[in-house]
Amino acid sequence: KFPESNVLQHLPKQFFASLVAKANAKAASGADVINLGQGNPDQPTPDFIVKAMQEATANPATHKYSQFRGMPNLKQAAADFYQREYGVTLDPETEIAILGGSKIGLVELPFALLNPGDTMLLPDPGYPDYMSGVALAQVNLELMTLKAANQYLPKYADLDPQVVEQAKLMYLNYPNNPTGAVATPDFYAETVKFAQDHHIGVVQDFAYGALGFDGKRPVSFLQTPGAKNVGIEMYTLSKSFNMAGWRIGFAAGNADMIEAINLIQDHLFVSVFPAIQDAAVAALNSDQSSVKSLVALYQRRRDQFYAAARKIGWEPYPSGGSFYAWMPVPAGYTAESFADLLLDKAAVVVAPGTGFGAAGEGYVRVGLLIDEPRFTEACERIAKLNLF
Ligand code: PLP
Repeated sequence: KFPESNVLQHLPKQFFASLVAKANAKAASGADVINLGQGNPDQPTPDFIVKAMQEATANPATHKYSQFRGMPNLKQAAADFYQREYGVTLDPETEIAILGGSKIGLVELPFALLNPGDTMLLPDPGYPDYMSGVALAQVNLELMTLKAANQYLPKYADLDPQVVEQAKLMYLNYPNNPTGAVATPDFYAETVKFAQDHHIGVVQDFAYGALGFDGKRPVSFLQTPGAKNVGIEMYTLSKSFNMAGWRIGFAAGNADMIEAINLIQDHLFVSVFPAIQDAAVAALNSDQSSVKSLVALYQRRRDQFYAAARKIGWEPYPSGGSFYAWMPVPAGYTAESFADLLLDKAAVVVAPGTGFGAAGEGYVRVGLLIDEPRFTEACERIAKLNLF
């Protein structure tokens, strides 16, 4: 009888799958559903990236097995990108690992770096897929609670000293999914010191790194003095270049951690399709004007959504980056009961904060991934429920 695997039985339930199922069921009943629940970029991939991929497919070399660890031109482009955008120097061969999207790296890392029973720290609330790596690697999970009062940055001094002593790896994610919080250079400096003092590897997930609001560019963890001694940063082209379906990203930083992830990759994968790697080179080497337009679009949507929400008395937690709004639930509701109510009575899908961990209670996440008239309509439908 299958499945027998212990690992499989410990895998967490896919949170977004149940959200999609609920939304689909509502739509099937004939409702005009406004989906603010998922994090799927709605804009097309910029033309110049699509063209670069099309041209690359004409090259016979793309039809062959390619280097397992990624093409040298892409590793060079990733290093050049960090140098140009953040002033961070990286060796393309030893400090960059090419990945089929960042999720796979985030899931593989506990496997590559830890033994079963070792302890790792994850943020709560946090991106649910971090849990998959915990289950696959059979490691012990400890949560770092993020609070609005601390701008959703972990307070290292508040962690249980025994847990800190045991911890070998920690994940951070700024700009943050689901809260939109951004990290400061001081916080990263504190992180490097904490990691050094307690021998903890750091993985900072920079999936929304390009998406900073109010003219403020999120800093890279690797800009922090000493960061490369303790950790890596995960970069993806999914959000900044609307390439979520293409599956391309990379890890950058500490050479030992990069080597570990490359070793795991050698055994599990045979490279990303070379034409996609060539397209990623075009994206990273570009003048970044497509990214600037995208940031302006998300900023406009954030402002429009905030204005529509405030009009009905719904005050957002101020998001500094990403493409999410983090919204408190009204008195008398939980995150889940509020999300269910919005779907049931207003046909509006939002993600309950508890989908990102227990500390997400009291909030729902709104994705700013549709155009303005639909936000306003969503807020008008919500206004009719007289909740605020
Ligand atoms: N990290 C965070 C915080 C995300 O929100 C996402 C996608 O939603 C990812 C990583 C995964 O991105 P990728 O498409 O590179 O696998």
